[in-house]
Amino acid sequence: MGQRVIVLGSTGSIGRNALDVLDRMRDDWTVVGLSAGSCAELLAEQAERFRPEGVAIESGDASLLGKPGHGTYRVFKGPGALVDLISEVECDCVVCGVVGAAGLMGTLRAVELGRRVALANKEALVVGGSILMPMAKRTGATIIPVDSEHSAIFQAIQAGERGDVRRIWLTASGGPFRTWSKERMRGITLEDTLQHPTWDMGPKITIDSATMMNKALEIVEARWLFDMPADRIDVVVHPESIIHSLVEFCDGSMIAQFGTPDMRTPIQYALTHPARRPCPSKPLDLCAIGSLHMERPDLERFPAIRLGYEVARRGGTCGAVLNAANEEAVARFREGTIGFADITRLAEETLAGHVFMADPSLDELLAADRWAREEVNRCVTC
Ligand code: MG
Repeated sequence: MGQRVIVLGSTGSIGRNALDVLDRMRDDWTVVGLSAGSCAELLAEQAERFRPEGVAIESGDASLLGKPGHGTYRVFKGPGALVDLISEVECDCVVCGVVGAAGLMGTLRAVELGRRVALANKEALVVGGSILMPMAKRTGATIIPVDSEHSAIFQAIQAGERGDVRRIWLTASGGPFRTWSKERMRGITLEDTLQHPTWDMGPKITIDSATMMNKALEIVEARWLFDMPADRIDVVVHPESIIHSLVEFCDGSMIAQFGTPDMRTPIQYALTHPARRPCPSKPLDLCAIGSLHMERPDLERFPAIRLGYEVARRGGTCGAVLNAANEEAVARFREGTIGFADITRLAEETLAGHVFMADPSLDELLAADRWAREEVNRCVTC
């Protein structure tokens, strides 16, 4: 019997890569569910190719789905459709490639049902890590990170005992503005921002990489995934994106995972762990690369990283507020309403202005998320 898998966010960058990986593993893996936010056309094409049992669409044109000749599958529509899909269609594994806090409810449901979760949606952990991780312990769900840095840490940490881990080192490409002066950064356009030097990803994470808010969110993600205090998580800028992250043990040994920047590797590993299989990503030619560079992140030009540490340290409602403020500010930046530097400034001001709760319930986290979005939009319009 093979493994049954549901891919959430199947039309996005992670979802398309996941389906590419799954397509090559059809001997052992069956795609039984697909979900998308609004790209009904691509979702219908994917359903035709993989013949799942159920398909969920949040807000797109559902009439394109389930047409005669496309095979028979159930269609779940509207807000919460992906939660219904996970509840109704039996599976062993859920790949969560949804972008933003929108992925939280699907991830929660998968964890509640004790599924294996291949988690690319870092925002789910940033917002709801305090609920997701204890729930996984209770239900026996396994959360395996897909985020390349966290996949690297997950792999490297297996080299020793958990109690012997001294620090975690997250690598960062530094984004397109790594070498730009403060002066030059004042003129950043949306187009500049969407040019990532090493990774080909969706627009939201590409903008997060440019502000380095992505690394801030990843600090918080690591804090939850590996139960590691903020002061034992370090960030090192590594422009080649070959070393995906490192674990430092108490004897001073640092264990790293190397690989070409290709998301198919961490996606596939999250599915097959602890086994490994051949992957279509290009083999790494170390001699052709020649040298690898490391530098300290510049917190003055990229203040978002400081916010990541603050949120990882304080916990509570901070993750929900930082994430929502950032998502909203990124949306306003993409529309051209605000400038590049405003994204981090708005996130910082919103975080500083919120009423902190140390041990929030899910409803309180969702309320903090809503408040932060309104707050950013209020600041933008006044
Ligand atoms: Mg990453």
